Amino acid sequence: MNDPLHHAHHDHSHDHSHPHGHAHAHDHEHPHRHETASTSHHVETAKTLPRRDFLRVLMGGALAGASVMELAYHRAAWARAAAPGAHADLFDIHQAAPGVYFAHALPQAVINCNAAIFVRSKDVVIVDAHSKPSAAASLIRQIKRDITDKPVRYVVNTHFHWDHTQGNQAYTKTGDKVDFIATAATQQLMSDFAVVRMKASVDAIPEQIEALRAEAAKSKSAQEKSFCADQIRQMQAYVADLKDYSLELPTITFDKSYTLQDPAFDLNLEFHGQAHTAGDLFVFCPQQRAVATGDASHGWLPFIGDGFPHHWPGTIDEVARADFKHILGGHGPLQSDRSVMMNQRNYIEDLTGRVEEGRNAGQSVAEMQKRITVGSLHSLQANEYIDFLAKTLPESHLRFGPQPPLQDEVNVNIADIYKNLDRT
Ligand SMILES: [Zn+2]
Ligand SMILES: [Zn+2]
Repeated sequence: MNDPLHHAHHDHSHDHSHPHGHAHAHDHEHPHRHETASTSHHVETAKTLPRRDFLRVLMGGALAGASVMELAYHRAAWARAAAPGAHADLFDIHQAAPGVYFAHALPQAVINCNAAIFVRSKDVVIVDAHSKPSAAASLIRQIKRDITDKPVRYVVNTHFHWDHTQGNQAYTKTGDKVDFIATAATQQLMSDFAVVRMKASVDAIPEQIEALRAEAAKSKSAQEKSFCADQIRQMQAYVADLKDYSLELPTITFDKSYTLQDPAFDLNLEFHGQAHTAGDLFVFCPQQRAVATGDASHGWLPFIGDGFPHHWPGTIDEVARADFKHILGGHGPLQSDRSVMMNQRNYIEDLTGRVEEGRNAGQSVAEMQKRITVGSLHSLQANEYIDFLAKTLPESHLRFGPQPPLQDEVNVNIADIYKNLDRT
């Protein structure tokens, strides 16, 4: 996803006047388990519980009455409080399989993508690089502290969106030799759009800050005022971070497939057709039965602004032929089965069919947005997909008040599908 920063006022992006990209739709999730490796090094003080205990408390009772949105907020707030200053962790890292880790991005005012981390015999391969260099630097720090001292040798960009590529430069700054790998289509899209979308994401900030200031000014809640202040701080930090942006294009590209062999396990980088963008890359680790999917399959609603609605489901069907169990998506939680992947695939197919039907009947986008309701979409109602989305939605829209209705997101998807219906 990418969407602009999403956040508060509305979700992301959906404004097609901004070129950025994606919006994200959300993904959502929530940590199922936190037992992994990574989270154990927080300082314990009287005021801050170690992260692991904090999460146990959070999930287990202390905030049992809180809404999911509140949980997301408290969780993010805690992550910062536990490590004041510039060194707050931005990721929860979970082990998916031996040598395979999932870095789940904590909610931020300006969206970050997740990363997949593959620890090989002598080095590390990272999939995706977030929205800003400091986020990638934060991940590098967490990996060194909690997982391994081995250097990062390869960074894979699953697609060109800004929330997956703007942190690339942090890896070159480590001084270790690093190559960036993407499909040739993604390299072209980065050349064409990376700078323009980076600027658009920065240019969108002042208006968002204004909206937060207005929200804070009319609120009587000290907590809401503090939430707004924190969001504003994060947005200002994003703008400052991107002042030094430099475009790091892929140094290794391919059309169909590229293999990284290693005694630990192989990584097969593959293109299976257009989906979320024209260049989506999947990283398969056959020995560990894991796949990193970027935004072509993740735990939020899809962002279709740069997508290929008619091709996307077939691309997922191709991918699904492989043997894998662990799905490490670009947003939302780690998946240990295919249900969310197939639910999202079915939703795209369902909604695309409905939009096409509407267009054939001469309906406008606004009419479709009234007619194609959440309740009428079988793919949302099936397999508890809507319940999953309700849990994970707040992660993508960090806001203080109630979550916007899911229909808002569906409406964005309708407009994007309509726009891209004939893309081939
Ligand atoms: Zn994304
Ligand atoms: Zn994306």
